Amino acid sequence: MGRQAPAKKVRPRTRAAAADPPSIARPLLAWYARAKRDLPWRGSPDPYRVWVSEIMLQQTQVDRVREFFVRFMERFPTVHDLAAAREHEVLRRWEGLGYYRRARQLHAAAKRIVAEHDGQFPRTVEGLMALPGIGRYTAGAVASIAFDVPAPIVEANSRRVFARLVGHDRPLGGAAGDGPIWEVAERLVPRRHPGRFNQAVMDLGAMVCTPDRPLCPRCPLASVCVAQRESRTATIPAKTPRQATKLVRETAVIIRRGGRLLVERRGAGEWWEGLWDFPRTAGRPRGRRLGVVSYTVTHHKITCTVVEQAATVGAAPAAKSSRWVRPAELATLALSSPGRRIAKLVLSSGSL
Ligand code: SF4
Repeated sequence: MGRQAPAKKVRPRTRAAAADPPSIARPLLAWYARAKRDLPWRGSPDPYRVWVSEIMLQQTQVDRVREFFVRFMERFPTVHDLAAAREHEVLRRWEGLGYYRRARQLHAAAKRIVAEHDGQFPRTVEGLMALPGIGRYTAGAVASIAFDVPAPIVEANSRRVFARLVGHDRPLGGAAGDGPIWEVAERLVPRRHPGRFNQAVMDLGAMVCTPDRPLCPRCPLASVCVAQRESRTATIPAKTPRQATKLVRETAVIIRRGGRLLVERRGAGEWWEGLWDFPRTAGRPRGRRLGVVSYTVTHHKITCTVVEQAATVGAAPAAKSSRWVRPAELATLALSSPGRRIAKLVLSSGSL
């Protein structure tokens, strides 16, 4: 997440919108003490654990992150372990979480923290934001949860809660859309227990102030919430139009030479950059059809036909970004998620 553009002021529309910060923090923290989610990264305010969990939670559901976080921490228990790891191993451990750019930046930031900060995390939002892959939200989360800095955070859940609390009915998202919400968050975050407050807002959004049918009668902030009082929870936050789905057809070509298969590394700017996959073509190559793998990336719906071919005798050696691998090696190779599914299909087809 990048720096946010200067935002328009949010003018309080009602008395509730101008509710003083303690009238929000007090009931919210009391609710959090009894209702908070039990999440594996919440056991300690270690900035490394907070940081890794927050990066994983960007674009990935909490339930999925739980298991990955525990496994990641077993392999890389400290920032020193992560900094010392080879990139392909970090990517391998990230497999299944998607958006691998996050893993690469996490690795790069760990190296910087060790090389330039003696393994200690910067304690300010600005210092944290100077590291790769750390935007305003992640910096605010680490600074407030690990170091008690009264820094605001705005992410998917808290964005919705703040918008409803103050009755902000403009489209959200992006620097312009979220600017007014950052202002609200900044005004409300308390000096005492800012980390707990931020986590409480996120939990409230996940458990009570849900996108559809929020549970207002069970909400600790119902008495100060504009959207609830004005019966506007269904229209706040404003819906943003969805991008149309694009249907794509492609063919994955499984090229065999002896007992080995050709894999290619995804290039810069491609989906799954840096991960291994089977060669693709938009055409219809000849070969034995093994099956179809369907997957979705952003707003693309992809139908991938998998075809097997034997390499022509005397085929040119693999290019720098390609290699021949034994089927058994596929299990330890950092494959893209469609690549992993195609590998399963190939291995179960009995053709090897
Ligand atoms: S009262 Fe309802 S809309 Fe308002 S913050 Fe609580 S759950 Fe969300």
